[in-house]
Amino acid sequence: RERGPRMHPELLELYTVTDHVLGVGTFATVKEIVLKETGKSYALKIILKKTLQGKSAMLDTEISVLSKVRHPNCVSLLELFETEDAVYLVTDLAQGGELFDQLLKKGFYGESDAARLVHQILMGVEYLHTMGVVHRDLKPENLLFKDKSENSRLMITDFGLSKVLTGGNDVLMTACGTPGYVAPEVLEQIGHGKPVDMWSVGVIAYTLLCGYTPFWGEDQPSLFESIMSGEYEYEQEYWKDISQLAKSFIDTLLVPAEQRPTATHALSHPWFRAMLEQDMETP
Ligand code: ADP
Ligand code: MG
Repeated sequence: RERGPRMHPELLELYTVTDHVLGVGTFATVKEIVLKETGKSYALKIILKKTLQGKSAMLDTEISVLSKVRHPNCVSLLELFETEDAVYLVTDLAQGGELFDQLLKKGFYGESDAARLVHQILMGVEYLHTMGVVHRDLKPENLLFKDKSENSRLMITDFGLSKVLTGGNDVLMTACGTPGYVAPEVLEQIGHGKPVDMWSVGVIAYTLLCGYTPFWGEDQPSLFESIMSGEYEYEQEYWKDISQLAKSFIDTLLVPAEQRPTATHALSHPWFRAMLEQDMETP
């Protein structure tokens, strides 16, 4: 009945694979699975090898890095299965869904909520960078809420894979889906180091606060042009009630790569102190 590749026998022995599709990304389909022994749910990311186009050796190398990633704001890789046709990654389940969908539903976030989310993203990014992992595809579709609660933790997913799956020109291919978050040096193919993620954090912060992305174009070439110009605005209509501190935080990130702060440095921006303290004072 089920179309797609034949699952790994050991995987099927240990887990019940449900019909619940958690999401579909650029390279993978993700389903909820249940560990038979405990009844606990996990996410199963299924990557068909044909979509890897001969890059499975790189994937293997990267997976060894990813399996070391353990941080509250990062989805962990727990188990890995492989068949002739597919790679199966068992990861923590994020039951609250994508930040992308929440943002669509809400329109935009209030400043203290946005600060709390960006702070968590930065803590995850700081950790990944100390592990030598550059995410390269940070965007609201790859940020998942741990649970459905109001104050749910946010977790970065899909990390590292984009680095494995994209060498050279392929960066542009990956970027095709949602290129609005991609740093200018990626488009110019002159850099893809840690500052790339810091740019994306800047775009995410901007987008959370107003509900639209800072760089925009009718079509892909004009979007790319907009990003590479580095010019963006705080339209009065949407930004008049947002603090100068928030804008100054974004302004530190949406600059040429060599001027961007590290994640650690960005975490010390006064915007967080102002917003997170305010948060703590509310009963
Ligand atoms: P791709 O590399 O194909 O983009 P992702 O890892 O981004 O794959 O997964 C695709 C989608 O599946 C995500 O955007 C999300 O909606 C969902 N998803 C991925 N991992 C999980 C998880 N651990 N828990 C819940 N949903 C997930
Ligand atoms: Mg993805």
